[in-house]
Amino acid sequence: MNLLPIFLDIRGKRCALIGGGEVALRKANLLVRAGGHVHVIAPEVCDDLQQLLADNQGATINEEFTAAHLKDMVLVIAATDDDATNARVSEIAKGLGLPVNVVDQPELCSFIVPSIVDRTPIVVAISSSGASPILTRQIKEMNETMLPARIDKLAMLLQSYRKQVQQAINDFADRIRFWEGVLDSEIPELVYSGNDTAAVTALEQRLQQQDHSQRDGEVYLVGAGPGDPDLLTLRALRLMHKADVVLYDRLVSPEIMHKLRPDAEKIHVGKQRANHTVEQESINAMLVRLASEGKRVLRLKGGDPFIFGRGGEELASLASAGIKFQVVPGITAASGCAAYGGIPLTHRDHAHSVQFLTGHSKDGVLDLEWEDLVRPMQTLVFYMGLVGLELIVKHLLDAGMARGMPIAIVQQGTTSQQKVLKGTLDTIVSLVKADPPSPPTIIIIGTVVTLQENLAWFEGTA
Ligand code: SAH
Repeated sequence: MNLLPIFLDIRGKRCALIGGGEVALRKANLLVRAGGHVHVIAPEVCDDLQQLLADNQGATINEEFTAAHLKDMVLVIAATDDDATNARVSEIAKGLGLPVNVVDQPELCSFIVPSIVDRTPIVVAISSSGASPILTRQIKEMNETMLPARIDKLAMLLQSYRKQVQQAINDFADRIRFWEGVLDSEIPELVYSGNDTAAVTALEQRLQQQDHSQRDGEVYLVGAGPGDPDLLTLRALRLMHKADVVLYDRLVSPEIMHKLRPDAEKIHVGKQRANHTVEQESINAMLVRLASEGKRVLRLKGGDPFIFGRGGEELASLASAGIKFQVVPGITAASGCAAYGGIPLTHRDHAHSVQFLTGHSKDGVLDLEWEDLVRPMQTLVFYMGLVGLELIVKHLLDAGMARGMPIAIVQQGTTSQQKVLKGTLDTIVSLVKADPPSPPTIIIIGTVVTLQENLAWFEGTA
């Protein structure tokens, strides 16, 4: 971060505003909205600004700016059209240790005024650290659209019950649970739709309940997609914000991990190739234990949890322990890599079907129906196939697949590290040896690979 975002309490405090024109008026409006007492220092002050100051305990000082004007001020904004004055204000304010902003001159500022979405008491402040005002504006618009118009009323309702809840529920963790329960309930929707009385009744009812410590644990088995965080589903995102504890594996990208609730406990349960089973059993047991403690547990998996994700096994232990769960599908690596790699998995001229296969061999043996796999007009996608590539190629050739059959290896698909390596059954093994791709990689075999030449659109930086 280049700047520390903070919210300053200027209610009833003096703020110096140097300049008396239109720009100063805009800044004065903002300061007044936050309860500041604005002192305008300028030889001339426009009428609207004078009026605003008169209405809001402000003051006008019709003088050229001097250092003495900054006495007893908590904040300084320079909004004159004279560069020398602006620079002097900045220097003096900085010398006095006062936060100073010079309009449109970031190099003279010690703070910037962010773009604001105001649903007081909810305030969203946005900055691009000067990178792009237009982008900032778009983010503001996104926030304006996303935040329910009456979220201010919801915030006020919750605020009005804070003391009461604090007295009624002693335990801190129980209180958090209570508030989370309120936000997960029908109450926010009631407020958003203008039904404030019903919302209050519902909140009162919840507060009357004797036991706030009881909560059934639950497991969310969530597919995080192949890497690009924009490929998360809305439901995945919602549950990521809700979970108390997260069990994630190695395939979940750091960008996606950043989207988790910051205070959620994060447990890495990445599996080693060598001892799969043992680790899988301990993951199953951990899920059961955490949910039994009443926690909301997020089991976050790369791609889709039901495609080579062992999601079924994890759910089986939850089901037999009687623990509630839900499953959120994710974009599986085959779909993600195909889309971002520009390789349609089916195509009327190339493939009527596609098969997702595991290339993970047990003790050097890969037991698949090879005869079926070499039939024409189909696409094969091998997950976990890089280590066994030579074996896969050998089996396919032995079963009669053409030596010239196109094959693509997509490394780290959908991420900035994506790279597509293309060859044929004949050449791919030596191509991989010459330039080994970095995992995870997926292997796509079939004539659809030839379409990539025209359809590639996504450029990784690798
Ligand atoms: N459940 C996951 C697959 C887990 S198996 C899914 O639906 O995608 C792990 C294999 O997935 C890796 O060995 C690799 O073959 C593939 N994979 C996962 N993410 C990938 C990515 N971003 N790029 C290429 N392959 C990927």
